[in-house]
Amino acid sequence: MINGEKGASRSIKWGMVGGGKGSNIGYIHRSAALRDNNFDLIAGAFDIDPQRGIDFAKELGVSEDRCYGDYKKMLEEEAKRKDGIEAVTIATPNGTHYEISKACLEAGLHVVCEKPLCFTYEEAEELEKLATENNLIFGVTYGYSGHQMVTEARELIANGDLGEIRLINTQFAYGFFAGPVEELYPASKWRLSSKNAGPSFILGDVGTHSWHMAETMVPGLKIEELMCAMQRFGKGRELEDNAHVLIKCNDGIFCNLWASAINSGSHHGMKIRVVGSKASIEWFAERPNQLRYEIEGEAVRILERGAGYLHDSSKETDRIGAGHPEGLFESWSNMYRRFAIAMDAASRNDQEFLKTFWYPNVHEGAEGVKFVEACVASDKEGAAWVSVK
Ligand code: NAD
Repeated sequence: MINGEKGASRSIKWGMVGGGKGSNIGYIHRSAALRDNNFDLIAGAFDIDPQRGIDFAKELGVSEDRCYGDYKKMLEEEAKRKDGIEAVTIATPNGTHYEISKACLEAGLHVVCEKPLCFTYEEAEELEKLATENNLIFGVTYGYSGHQMVTEARELIANGDLGEIRLINTQFAYGFFAGPVEELYPASKWRLSSKNAGPSFILGDVGTHSWHMAETMVPGLKIEELMCAMQRFGKGRELEDNAHVLIKCNDGIFCNLWASAINSGSHHGMKIRVVGSKASIEWFAERPNQLRYEIEGEAVRILERGAGYLHDSSKETDRIGAGHPEGLFESWSNMYRRFAIAMDAASRNDQEFLKTFWYPNVHEGAEGVKFVEACVASDKEGAAWVSVK
């Protein structure tokens, strides 16, 4: 159980790019990273508007000389200091991830970057290579993977309790873009332009989460071929707001993935069902403390977070004990704790430890980009099957 234990042997000196005042996702990054004192937030270039970024940094308690108007200045000035930052989180719109990540890696910093990692698989491979060659940790914030019941699902599957895995049915289908919201909210607008969002809207935005969840639960899962049909329901939208993907995976596993922003009435709609030859599991992100475990011919079991019967690796991330609900903030804290442990190990050059220590990493980020790229290629060819290497 995590009960205030730090995880890393020291606090990582940390800065942020993006995630400024009023942004969607900046707050959960800070809340997660600062939760167990694994990180110290000592610098930041939080906003596209330099002055707003500086003002916000001050509000967050960053010392005045380390509140920066842009990330280039931050990298330049921090490199001159003995107590300069060691790691940077990038929580900016998609179109900037590649450039900023690359600059941070070249400055010798560990990176945590938002998904989708970048626009092309070629860029993603370059980032992965840069991180690996320079012994730098590169985490990608697939924030749902830190939920305790996701670990439990992975354990059940890895132990063979479901039998041979046959099917994965997964969706991330919310309804926020059912109407023309891009006229009202800036964070909606950039998501619909290829310049800022990349070659896809909804597949990059949330389809990558769904695919990552499947990869996290089913060890060794790989895409072999896929077909994808994208739709644009919102008038005048450049990018798709709905997509259906069929995926042939290794070992005969077949996956059906639905990503949508126009699923009217659905707040969030992230679900996954993994079907094996003996049993199935089902997990719904809006009820993250429960995992349905359905053995063919037996009554349905609902496994509860924090319960004594869970695997030890699931209970390891427990923060409050059974009965009290945990949620997305705890999942993110677990993920950031792993980032910190990995960064700490990398700074001691403990390669033996890092060989087996898992965290959502740049390779998984790159797999997400590869997935989106293949979906776009398939859709362009009229939803043809395309092979994925
Ligand atoms: P947003 O538009 O709400 O916020 C973006 C923030 O970045 C703003 O504060 C903006 O001023 C700042 N910014 C933009 N360009 C910048 C630059 N060059 N330098 C410094 N700051 C800059 O966007 P959002 O919804 O928070 O999304 C940000 C990223 O997070 C996207 O890549 C998105 O896909 C991702 N995201 C991930 C999750 C998740 O669950 N992991 C959830 C939501 C968003």
